[in-house]
Parts: sequence; C-alpha cells; structure tokens
Amino acid sequence: MRHEEGANQKTEWSLLKYKRLWSKSLLDWYAVHGRDLPWRRTRNPYAIWLSEVLLQQTRVDQGLSYYLRFLDHFPTVQELAQADIQDILRLWQGLGYYRRAHHLHCAAKLVVEKGGGLPQSPAEWLQLPGVGPYTAAAIASIAQDYPAPVVDGNVIRVLSRAFGAEAPYDTAEGLRWIRQTAQNLLDTDRPGDYNQALMDMGATVCTPQKPACNICFWQKKCVAFLQDRVGELPKRSKSTKVVPLTLDYLVLFHRGRVLLFPRRDQGIWAGLYEFLPQPWAGAWDESAWDQHWGSEHPSETLSHRLVTVSHALSHRSLTLNLNCIRLNRNLHLDGGVWVTLQDLERYPLPQPFLQFLKQIDFNHGRTQQSHAHRQPRQGPRSQNP
Ligand code: SF4
Repeated sequence: MRHEEGANQKTEWSLLKYKRLWSKSLLDWYAVHGRDLPWRRTRNPYAIWLSEVLLQQTRVDQGLSYYLRFLDHFPTVQELAQADIQDILRLWQGLGYYRRAHHLHCAAKLVVEKGGGLPQSPAEWLQLPGVGPYTAAAIASIAQDYPAPVVDGNVIRVLSRAFGAEAPYDTAEGLRWIRQTAQNLLDTDRPGDYNQALMDMGATVCTPQKPACNICFWQKKCVAFLQDRVGELPKRSKSTKVVPLTLDYLVLFHRGRVLLFPRRDQGIWAGLYEFLPQPWAGAWDESAWDQHWGSEHPSETLSHRLVTVSHALSHRSLTLNLNCIRLNRNLHLDGGVWVTLQDLERYPLPQPFLQFLKQIDFNHGRTQQSHAHRQPRQGPRSQNP
C-alpha cells in the first residue's frame, strides 16, 4: 500500500469518529451565520435550479440580481422554454460563460416537451444539458431532500483541510477520498441544509486565502490547523494553464451607429453579437482593407485608431485588438446590423465589448476619455476565444 493510500485510510477512520460532531457543529453554525439568500426562502425546484446555474463560476453578490431578474421575467420553466434565446442572453449579459444560458434554455424546452415535470433525483437532473454532478446533487438535496453530497471547489477545500486529505484532489486517489468523505459525512436527515452550510463555510470562513481559523467552530479538531498545514491544503498536482490568445476586430462606425454581427459558432460567445472579425491575419493593414472595400471606402478616407483591450477568462488570456474605423458612407455586409448607443441594450454582447462601447463616442469612433492602453502580451491569433 502506498504511503498516501495508508494516510488517506487513517483520515477516513478519524472522520467517521467525528461524523456526528462535525454535522451538528456545521448545522449549528449555519443556523446562526448562514447567508440569507432569496433562493433559500423557497423549495421551488425550478427557482433553485435557476440559482444553481446562475451561480456556477459566479460570486453570490454578482448572481443575486440576475436571479431576481430571471425569476421576474421567466417565473416558470414553461415561460423560460417559450422565451427567445436573445431575450435570455440579454438578461445574462455581464455574467459570462454564456453557454450556461444556451444550456438552460435547451433544458427548459426539454422539460416542457416531456410534459413539464421537473426531474426528481440527481440521476434525472443529470440528463438535462448544463447540469453536472454538483448542480444535480445541489438541486435534488435542497429542493427535494435527496441525500446527495455536493462536491465543488469549496467542499474540496473545507474537507481537505478539516480532515487532512493527503492525495492531491486532481488525482484519482484524491478524488476518491473527497467523494467518499463527502458521502460519509453527509447529514442524511437534512441534506439540503448540510450542503448549503458546507458551501457557506467554504465561501465565508474556510476561504482560499486567509481562512478565518480564529473564529472557526472546527479549529480544535481541524487537521490542517493543528498540523500548521492550512496554506498547503488542498493539494493539487498540476496547475491550470492559461493560454494567451489574440482576436482582431474591425469596429465600424457610421452616423452614430456601430456595426454588429450575431456570432453563430459554438464558442463561449455563441449567440452573442460581436464586431466584424478582421478578415485578414495580423495587424491593421490599409492595403488589405482596400482589397476588400477600397472601391467604396478607400483607406485614405478613413480614420483608423487601434484600441487594445485585455480580458481574462479562466483558461484564456485574451488580447482584443479593436480597430476603430469611422466610415463616411454606409457599408452593407450580410448579417450586419447598425446599432445606436441607445439601442445597444437590445443586443447581447460579450462583457469586454460592452464595456468598450460604453466609453466610445459613436459619432467619432473614439473613446470619450483618454485611456492609456498598456500593450498586453499577445498570444496566437484566432477568432474563437
Ligand atoms: Fe478551515 Fe481553518 Fe476551520 Fe480548519 S480551522 S476548517 S482551515 S477555517
């Protein structure tokens, strides 16, 4: 038996010894310190599903207003299923990870096609697009009292520290330990409260940086605290590689309007609007422009200015080269739509584009304030983030 396996088995025995104390302490703490959130005042599985999807990769304070707006616009799964995807994306604007919105819409349509009844167990929830094991366990335990433990980054951190996980959690052995520990410790009488308590503890006390061990109810039993290994746990065997990527766009302005195009591919911005992807590779090039549109819009009649914007995604570090061009005449391009600043909110846009356009004088295609744009590290060029 390898050292790590032996050590993990020891922690499994010790956590079984503490199961009842852990669960009671956690639920007592939650009763006093749990966050008062709107989705915790309901048992409606649709509302809880909505909250779980909105909160994936999103901070609670950021997701809260989206949750209220979504429920207001689409109070039932039927109304969500009938909605236009553009209306859903517009409400989603600013939240990022737009694939979630597409999946949610698709899942609502599936539910309605099958008669409108929502799933009753984690296995049934897992059949819906966009619902993974964490979301399925969260909805089924919170809304339907199903005894399923949740496992996400918060839970991995809390359990690894509190009970001293030895194997890195991104290895088969480490993952097995986490799943088994989560299952063994689950309070099956109150699975929904238990799961939410664990999430709150990870979000507010046992945080990634500077956990509040001095006020933690588990401090006297916590393996990481007692062994002075809080900063070391949870262990990870490899780090996520963030890949730099450069996207080049032509941002065309004419008479106080900007030209936008719906994006159709399957990337993270699928279904949103964007500027015209630059049809040639590399930097702004007057002769390349003239080859495409020079007969109607010779490059010497244009005003061109490059604005470079950086945008960080979890797996990508984007550099957006936005070539702002003011046209003297209209330019007709298939699929393009000319949009005024006032109408901008009718078109769902990726967040960096929206932020950029809010600073632009549409009549001149220039930023209203002077911004020093640092030249970020440019990655390989692509049109798909
Ligand atoms: Fe986390 Fe510190 Fe509490 Fe241990 S004592 S569970 S490390 S907050």
